[in-house]
Amino acid sequence: MSKRILVSGGAGFLGSHLCERLLVEGNEVISLDNYYTGTPDNLKHLQDDPRLTMVEGDVNDPRDLGALDQIFHMACPASPVHYQRDPVMTIKTCVFGTYNMLEMAARAGARLLIASTSEVYGDPEQHPQPEAYWGNVNPIGPRACYDEGKRCGEALAVSHAGHLGTEVRLARIFNTYGPRMDVDDGRVVSNFVVQALRGEDLTIYGNGQQTRSFCYVTDLVEGFLLLMASDLQARPVNLGNPGEFTILKLANLVKEMTGSSSKISWMPKPEDDPTLRRPDISLARSALGWEPKIALAHGLEDTISYFRTMVG
Ligand code: NAD
Ligand code: UDP
Repeated sequence: MSKRILVSGGAGFLGSHLCERLLVEGNEVISLDNYYTGTPDNLKHLQDDPRLTMVEGDVNDPRDLGALDQIFHMACPASPVHYQRDPVMTIKTCVFGTYNMLEMAARAGARLLIASTSEVYGDPEQHPQPEAYWGNVNPIGPRACYDEGKRCGEALAVSHAGHLGTEVRLARIFNTYGPRMDVDDGRVVSNFVVQALRGEDLTIYGNGQQTRSFCYVTDLVEGFLLLMASDLQARPVNLGNPGEFTILKLANLVKEMTGSSSKISWMPKPEDDPTLRRPDISLARSALGWEPKIALAHGLEDTISYFRTMVG
């Protein structure tokens, strides 16, 4: 049956794919976005659909959007470059923004799915990372505005659920990539693909031996829908692709797949940059029947095709 669904951050990378999928499933969708890192262009191909409403606004301001069945709370800058630009704003968005979404869900009797992050594990001492791992986060480092903001968002959500019975789902998202990442997003996949297509040096921060596990966006959106429909009340669930790659390996793969003659330029490793990251997705496998299907090389093909249209 058709639902009325709010997607905060609906004009961002993940949010726009989610809005698209929710419309395909026959729902009415409201995107709430202040266009801090996202753009209405990400929803342009859907704008003639009368079931989509685009509201320009900040999740930090309380508001009433009427009857809602579900809320997917995606709003928050996600790239280190952007979340560190105004760290106080980032903390406010993680905490006040999440509080406003919780209150809205409670008022409407809606179920809320919150986009948390693998960053709650910080620079992990346990590898791969299961949900039971508490993490290793520097509370006063340059990433703290995001890591600690998201950790507080989880604490707030679990408290709200426990105290008031609010229906909450918590997705701990691991590095996800795909079309509609911003050209200037600053995260590693978009940076490398754009640099390779422009014939510029690929910028590796540190020695390139740090690892990340890359999930293609449509796999993640499938996980969101399954988690929202599940009975995993107020319990964090890792969503990510367990395929683990060094950043150097990613750089070489992008160079090869784009046929680029770009060179590599070595830059300093950012403070507190996690050394290893790989999700343990046993819970998502058993409770949701979910696992990613799209291998990195396959997902990169579509991502490279998209960026070709963006950088000419
Ligand atoms: P993104 O930057 O592309 O999208 C974020 C969207 O939120 C943008 O459209 C932005 O304009 C909007 N936004 C930011 N602050 C806002 C505010 N105060 N009010 C209203 N809108 C606001 O990032 P993304 O990759 O799509 O990430 C979406 C969510 O998923 C974020 O919460 C992020 O922390 C989380 N996440 C993403 C990844 C990933 O790899 N993509 C990994 C972990 C967590
Ligand atoms: N990175 C890099 N070059 C870039 C951008 C990022 O080497 O141009 C590295 C970064 O230092 C980190 C990894 O790639 O080790 C992933 O960075 P990203 O910002 O994509 O995500 P996060 O660090 O939040 O996982």
